[in-house]
Amino acid sequence: MESKDLIIGIDLGTTNSLAAAVLDQGPVALRVDGKSPIIPSVLSRQEGHWAVGQEARELRTIAPERTVFSVKRLMGRDHGELAAELPRLPYAVQPAQRGLVKVHIGEEAFTPQELSAEILSAVKRNAEEALGRPVARAVITVPAYFDDAQRQATRDAGRIAGLEVVRIINEPTAAAIAYGLDEGQRGTVAVYDLGGGTFDVSVLQLSEKVFKVLATGGDTHLGGDDFDALLAAEMMRRVQQRQPGLSLAGPLASQLFRKTAELVKIDLSRALETEYRLDLPALGLACQERFTRVEFEALIAPLVDTTIGTCRATLAKAGKRPDEIADVVLVGGSSRIPLVRARVRELFGRAPNIAIDPDEVVAIGAGIQGHLLAGGRRDYVLLDVIPLSLGIETLGGTFSKLITANTTIPAEATEVFTTYVDDQTGVELNIYQGEREFVKDCRNLGRFRLRGIPPMPAGLPKVHVTFLVDTNGILTVSAREERSGQAAAIDVIPSHGLTAGEIERIMDESVAHAQEDMTRRQLVEFRNMAEAVFRGIDKVWDQAREMLGEAELAAIRAQMDTVRRQAVLDEPLALKREMDRLGELTRPLADAIMSKAALQELRRFFRDHGGVEMV
Ligand code: ADP
Ligand code: MG
Repeated sequence: MESKDLIIGIDLGTTNSLAAAVLDQGPVALRVDGKSPIIPSVLSRQEGHWAVGQEARELRTIAPERTVFSVKRLMGRDHGELAAELPRLPYAVQPAQRGLVKVHIGEEAFTPQELSAEILSAVKRNAEEALGRPVARAVITVPAYFDDAQRQATRDAGRIAGLEVVRIINEPTAAAIAYGLDEGQRGTVAVYDLGGGTFDVSVLQLSEKVFKVLATGGDTHLGGDDFDALLAAEMMRRVQQRQPGLSLAGPLASQLFRKTAELVKIDLSRALETEYRLDLPALGLACQERFTRVEFEALIAPLVDTTIGTCRATLAKAGKRPDEIADVVLVGGSSRIPLVRARVRELFGRAPNIAIDPDEVVAIGAGIQGHLLAGGRRDYVLLDVIPLSLGIETLGGTFSKLITANTTIPAEATEVFTTYVDDQTGVELNIYQGEREFVKDCRNLGRFRLRGIPPMPAGLPKVHVTFLVDTNGILTVSAREERSGQAAAIDVIPSHGLTAGEIERIMDESVAHAQEDMTRRQLVEFRNMAEAVFRGIDKVWDQAREMLGEAELAAIRAQMDTVRRQAVLDEPLALKREMDRLGELTRPLADAIMSKAALQELRRFFRDHGGVEMV
């Protein structure tokens, strides 16, 4: 797409902002060199110019009167409307002409639009660096409850930042679009957005592919910051209890506790328990502590319950019961907290949509909207089905599928594989994606080794291989050998970097090559089988000489040569015929010498799979 046609999406948040766009690989948040796409919505005036983003965020406690955050709260509001807001802000906000406000820093004064424009400029620059080309147009999101003045102020900010604001859309609508819910037939969607400083819930009604806002609710002062504050206070209480003499007043200590609290909080979304250090030599503070998820949940439960109460009230306002909601979408960094997810799930009686990163989902929806407005098609991969079959490489480069294309996510499958030579103590699992019979025609997703299998005859080890695709589309492949309990696992993202066009091509090719692939695959399987049978015959040859007559032995050897000659030709059925003949000739051997169990294993192994490649 030409850069002049590109329309990016921007989530201009109270706490964080970021951009997204639809690229060849589908909708993505725009990031530079794998860094986070998120730019904190904070700016700090430093010697006549602005520091924006993470750098400014660090300055919040050090230079509070020069550092501006939560500008979004000021957008399009007059001084009277902000009466309740202003006492909370450490920087100076003064009335300006026509009832509007300006932020005063030293001798200078700035309108909220100008400040917002600085954030948008930083987002734009980041997007341009990520894309490697200029960006001129954007779709920007605002809360569903923003009035005309607030929307207009947002437009103005975009214009000041040098962006043509093609459209302003509601944040919850963007989130619903990101999940493709506007394409569906299903009626009512609830969007639960818990960010850093604000909580919003919206009930949307889909009609003719357009979302209408039925009701909104929320709390403009409830979010992750409050959780940080509660946690920081508790952490401080614990330190005080242990070291009663310590004075923890002052910005340095409070910044350290806040910062640590946020890290602990984020850790506890993942782990059940976390350890943290607090070091402040100036105050004589040095301690190591633990915090558990259970303790954290107890602290925040009342606030989380408040959000659930607001959801109930908003549903009532929309005239809907929880069970009338077809889809629930989670938005905002704080919606990652397991307790929040559990409570939302409880209320609506269904699993919320969480597949798309809650920090990115609004920007991604705006990016999709921009893409559609620019005349783009919705031809990228959605996350809710597995687009291409997933499996592992088996003997001779064949592809064994564990999960087939179009299985809905989450999905899980387990199969048992075995070794094909004696005393093999490790197997390599080579993971592929595709529709063909050979891995050389598929996409490699990764590999890992399972070691430490006790030496056993070929065909005896049982390696359970499990493929699990979670709701985020992440594939975990694990392998466990039954007797030894040895296990290993790997995570991969199968849809990463795949476009709808590519998937279509892969599917078409698999149909076109189906016959030829099948023939080649049979050939490989029969050749493998021949190899194994030859090895079996070699093993028992001494015993065979005692059991069979010269003529019978000669017939077997002659037939082995025939099989060898046939194996180099590309005729699987002819090879199979010669193999069967060899099988007839060696039957007395097999019956007499090989143990039943080993024989069965061998048969099962060849029937099911080609065996796993040897390390
Ligand atoms: P906003 O929409 O207000 O700009 P965001 O949606 O970016 O805010 O959310 C920011 C908040 O999410 C912060 O309070 C941050 O600490 C919190 N957050 C981010 N990741 C996690 C996580 N893994 N667990 C809990 N909270 C998180
Ligand atoms: Mg947000």
